[in-house]
Amino acid sequence: MKSQQQDEIEQAFLPIARPSTGPEEVEAVRQVLESGWLTQGPFVSRFEKAFAARHGATHALAVTSCTTALHLALVVLGIGPGDEVIIPAFTWVATANVVVHCGATPVFVDVDPISFNVEPAAVRAALTARTKAVIAVHLFGRVAPMDELRVVIPASIPIIEDAACATGASDQGRPAGSLGVMGCFSLHPRKTVTCGEGGVVTTNDGELALLLDTYRNHGASIPEEVRHRGARPWELPEFKVFGFNYRMTDIQAAVAEVQLRKLDRFLEERRALAALYDDRLKRIEWLKSPDRPDHMGHSLQAYVATVDSRIGALSRNRILEVLQENKIGARPGTHAVVALEAYRSRFGVDPQRFPGALEAESQSIALPLHNEMGASDIERVVQVLENAA
Ligand SMILES: *Cc1c(COP(=O)(O)O)cnc(C)c1O
Repeated sequence: MKSQQQDEIEQAFLPIARPSTGPEEVEAVRQVLESGWLTQGPFVSRFEKAFAARHGATHALAVTSCTTALHLALVVLGIGPGDEVIIPAFTWVATANVVVHCGATPVFVDVDPISFNVEPAAVRAALTARTKAVIAVHLFGRVAPMDELRVVIPASIPIIEDAACATGASDQGRPAGSLGVMGCFSLHPRKTVTCGEGGVVTTNDGELALLLDTYRNHGASIPEEVRHRGARPWELPEFKVFGFNYRMTDIQAAVAEVQLRKLDRFLEERRALAALYDDRLKRIEWLKSPDRPDHMGHSLQAYVATVDSRIGALSRNRILEVLQENKIGARPGTHAVVALEAYRSRFGVDPQRFPGALEAESQSIALPLHNEMGASDIERVVQVLENAA
């Protein structure tokens, strides 16, 4: 968190998110640049070990984004044309796009507009003989109801965690990334820790880890750095599958490793700022703070409140406008993917079947929350909101 003095200097515009980096990240990048090895190498390995340990998983594989992490997860499960993958109707569009990229069909399940998560009973109702996987999304850092989902979903159907927002999140002390067959994380600057662009897949399954490793590197039978540093670097690897280049660079891994060391402090700061929002927003009847159950180690990737426009005079969009006019960045929570043109036209999805997702999209408001802001910024946001209605 920054000091009062910095607050005053930077009061010009308060962004919704802002990466928090310092001289440690710069130094880490310098080391990589001077090492003569820039692509996936020793820094990636070190970052992966640290990430796996922090998230209670045996394996972690660094990739280029959470989107490519999710794509790889579906690929290594062998998902393809004719298969169905169940996903929430309210999520970032990437959760759905990766299903389409596999040639499979996304099957949407409505969400509860309070938790922003799917209800296990609704997931059960969406199961068919063609269901090959379920993607549970830990939206905004709130872990999906994994135990309840596991009970209603047959054991033969794997649950993938879309943990894009859930680096460092947990439920009853169990970390996100250790709760499904694979956990897919994002290192985009809108998330809790970042390296520009990046992603991670975690798993406790050694065979899947091996497949993930192969598919992220063109399908090569051995990783580049192992080959180049081994006894026969001139021997080209065998390619038994059609892979991708989803490798993370050592430059990004060096930054990500430093960020991961700061994760617990970042989470603590985010939780303190969120608690302050919770307290101050009690004064505003028409704005509901995000629901955060006690057993949940919510990672607060975003602080997403809900506007009740029946009580307040202003619509959610008007409130976004007022905040912008007052130099405060705010955004809708995320998409009702079912209402997006691509999904309506290709899959004939009727958005009206997803009232929870539509309500979440039209009433949610993500307020500024990041590690470069302080208590006075929260007071400022709340003051503008109070004067808005
Ligand atoms: C951000 C996000 C993604 C995509 O992450 P990238 O690293 O940007 O590809 C996927 N799913 C959810 C829920 C997200 O919030």
